[in-house]
Amino acid sequence: MATVKGKSQPHGGIVRIGCYEIDRTIGKGNFAVVKLATHMYTKTKVAIKIIDKTQLDDDNMKKIYREIQIMKMLKHPHIIRLYQVIETERMLYLVTEYASGGEIFDHLVAHGRMNEREARKKFKQIIAAVSYCHSRQIVHRDLKAENLLLDASLNIKIADFGFSNYYNQNCCLKTWCGSPPYAAPELFEGKEYSAPKVDIWVIN
Ligand code: ATP
Ligand code: MG
Repeated sequence: MATVKGKSQPHGGIVRIGCYEIDRTIGKGNFAVVKLATHMYTKTKVAIKIIDKTQLDDDNMKKIYREIQIMKMLKHPHIIRLYQVIETERMLYLVTEYASGGEIFDHLVAHGRMNEREARKKFKQIIAAVSYCHSRQIVHRDLKAENLLLDASLNIKIADFGFSNYYNQNCCLKTWCGSPPYAAPELFEGKEYSAPKVDIWVIN
């Protein structure tokens, strides 16, 4: 893990992180702010997830390091790629691939429902990425329209591995994860659950 200091403006606002110039905020989560940034020399656009470690308790610190470890393992055309991790005493910066099409949630709100051909294409890409994770014994546990991003050509890029974990085919997980409107029914029972199934449940 590289340790690089962010460069500060006189008034304290960081304008550069490593070789990346910060542009604007593109997302906010519970513990993170996501900024669009540009590489100083190559001009490549990236998304940088910025986490203030002083705001995290031990459990959330463990979660963020697990998110990093898991993202490092995942190299798939429909999963946001982690390029670099920059760590200072106080902050963590996750430099990732930028999905310029934004959340599929916002895309659906703006454009309405997709035609079947387009929906089928997106579904195939989601399933390919989820299957890739499961083949590596990784469960995402927070698949929802806000975490399914789109690139410039409107291809799926799965993001936010903050709830992801490793699992074993022979035993179950216990921790409640995800977002209530999207969570699998067995999670609400509070019992142990089979990990991969919570990523792929359907209503009959
Ligand atoms: P939450 O806890 O609310 O799920 P989080 O703190 O885990 O959020 P992310 O879900 O990773 O953070 O990012 C928050 C939002 O930032 C995303 O929903 C998306 O809108 C935007 N975002 C994150 N990563 C990218 C990216 N690589 N490209 C474009 N937008 C992104
Ligand atoms: Mg999210």
